Amino acid sequence: MSDSKKLFAAAVRVIPGGVNSPVRAFRGVGGEPFFVARGEGARLWDVEGRAYLDFLGSWGPLILGHAARPVVEAVTAAAARGTSYGAPTPMEVEMAEAITAAYPSVELVRLVSSGTEAAMSAIRVARGATGRPLLVKFDGCYHGHADSLLVKAGSGGATFSIPDSGGVPAALAALTLTAPFNDLAAVRALFQARGDEIAAVIVEPVAGNMGVVPPRPGFLEGLREVTRAHGALLIFDEVITGFRVAYGGAQQLYGVRPDLTCLGKIIGGGLPVGAYGGARALMEQVAPLGTIYQAGTLSGNPLAVAAGLATLRALRERGVYARLETLGAALERGLREAAGAAGVALTVNRVGSMLTGFFCAGPVTDYASARRADTRAYARFFHAMLGAGVFLAPSQFEAAFVSLAHTDADLAEAGRAAAGALAAAGR
Ligand SMILES: *Cc1c(COP(=O)(O)O)cnc(C)c1O
Repeated sequence: MSDSKKLFAAAVRVIPGGVNSPVRAFRGVGGEPFFVARGEGARLWDVEGRAYLDFLGSWGPLILGHAARPVVEAVTAAAARGTSYGAPTPMEVEMAEAITAAYPSVELVRLVSSGTEAAMSAIRVARGATGRPLLVKFDGCYHGHADSLLVKAGSGGATFSIPDSGGVPAALAALTLTAPFNDLAAVRALFQARGDEIAAVIVEPVAGNMGVVPPRPGFLEGLREVTRAHGALLIFDEVITGFRVAYGGAQQLYGVRPDLTCLGKIIGGGLPVGAYGGARALMEQVAPLGTIYQAGTLSGNPLAVAAGLATLRALRERGVYARLETLGAALERGLREAAGAAGVALTVNRVGSMLTGFFCAGPVTDYASARRADTRAYARFFHAMLGAGVFLAPSQFEAAFVSLAHTDADLAEAGRAAAGALAAAGR
């Protein structure tokens, strides 16, 4: 038995499904996960010493690649000064200044420890500030695993076809209304019917958790309009897109200003972090200034903030986003050419360095069209790529992420692997 198999056998005896987050279990593609020994740059090594070219990037945070030197140095230096104090530190101010400078819609920002916490807290602010109970979310969008948000959620929910979660009371789920992504008419209809009860619309401005689905021109602008008209708030969940599709996130890329923004992933540089923020008048309602309570023992943790600041510093260098665009385009081209040669219907959606190849004819514009994808073909493709030493997300309904550690040669290697794998997947 391989070391990974032995470890997985041990893991399932003591951890539900053997993993600490469901999508890691490979249920979406079959088989068992490999166990990671280490990562460096664009590559991971498993416990047997096999190398993989990595396009998972820890599900989004690792925009600089694995063990990026500035991040390792910042974390090491911070650890030597102590790992947590439960009292404010200078770096938290620096992080808040970096976020508010990059996101003009965010005047005050609170650091938390995960994207889940960020989204959950932003919703609490929206409900507290408006005094309204309802939330509108989009089918296939994922905003972490808080109760109100596990209704028609993407990511693991999409992989396992579980639209709802056990343990979420129906009364609570009933407070979450859903609409198809990119369907402004459906949102308008919800507001027509219950507009004065809706606290907020929460959206991934570029969907990443049903696979990558960009917003149609006018969709985000329309959400801005309809929420404003009805006195509801617009929440952009930029946990993936923040500092990824542009330094200023999707709100910079598309020029739409939300009321509240959720961040995570990249701002922690691979350590656990989230953040939520918005206009001063809204965020002043959060404790200790206001009545909306939210707290965290490890919030603004010095190691996580050090890793995040080192990452953001690297992302402020000239030409970084142009480089990510070039690399992302190369991956897209490699997949398209491989699919064309193999005669496989593959729809590639990409925004900068985030991309999904859906195994179906296009266009993929929402969750329903994403679900048309042939998940068994994806599973064959995934395993063929893994066999060729390329690690993709173990589910059709996730994004591939390119990092600044990837080279042109890496992308060429991925393209060659895809050509072989798609020839196999098409059969
Ligand atoms: C990953 C993700 C979250 C949840 O973040 P965690 O750190 O996993 O809790 C929330 N929203 C979006 C859009 C995400 O991709």
